[in-house]
Amino acid sequence: MNRMKRHVIELVRDAVNKYASMTIPTFDEICSGLELEVKDGKLPSGTDGAQKDKIIIINSQIKSEERKRFTQFHEVTHYLIEKDGDLISELHDYTINQEHGFKKPLETLCNIGAAEFLMPSKEFTKLYNKRGFNVQLILFAANYFKSSTIAATIQFAQVAPNKCIAVVCENGLVPNAPVPSQASFFTTGNQYHNKSKLHVIYSASSPAASDRWLAKYTIFPDDHVINQAFLRAEKLEGESEIPFPGWQESCICEALPDKNRVYALFHLSSLPDPNQMTLF
Ligand SMILES: [Zn+2]
Repeated sequence: MNRMKRHVIELVRDAVNKYASMTIPTFDEICSGLELEVKDGKLPSGTDGAQKDKIIIINSQIKSEERKRFTQFHEVTHYLIEKDGDLISELHDYTINQEHGFKKPLETLCNIGAAEFLMPSKEFTKLYNKRGFNVQLILFAANYFKSSTIAATIQFAQVAPNKCIAVVCENGLVPNAPVPSQASFFTTGNQYHNKSKLHVIYSASSPAASDRWLAKYTIFPDDHVINQAFLRAEKLEGESEIPFPGWQESCICEALPDKNRVYALFHLSSLPDPNQMTLF
């Protein structure tokens, strides 16, 4: 998967080099460079955008500007991947025996492409060289690049210098629907029944952590650093368990509450010495 991620980032960089006037491109210049036609349209709820051949449709119901920009570049990435025969066949080979098939890895790749358009990894790396690699950087970068915090989380994980998993949790109702078995590691009985719980809404792994991730709707034990940080409304850091699908591992976790969410970072390996980190 890492090779495909790198491939997508190269496709994005090529498009930016060819068609953008600045480091961070506008959607319009990329679309006119690639000769894509853009339409605002009605799409089923939950579908932010769609792409077919050279046509991109953006759901006209999207209110948030950040979400709209992310969707725009997500759909452009769908187009870039679609016309790259090598990447498509690699994706087919990768997913041939996978339970969830083609769609999930393809969506992950398009998210990575969108994040690269909005927050070029070279620029993001400069930020963390200046400010340190820590969970606060997610909120700082979202503000700096005017992107959503989920998009910042994706790129944050992508440029991480160590083995780590970045997670966005939100307090809210967890659907009653059956949860995939791998998500229910820490859950018992009826916790899914109409009770507000802090749960994972997005997780992203660093290249060194290869494809480990936390399933959406994963919840944590009450005494977990993530829940404690939320309750106390302060940033906490400590050794804690990470409930990977099927097993668990203990590592340092940083948890930063912000309104209804907690941004967390699980360090599966320690950070390199800042003096030895290479600058891009
Ligand atoms: Zn998509």
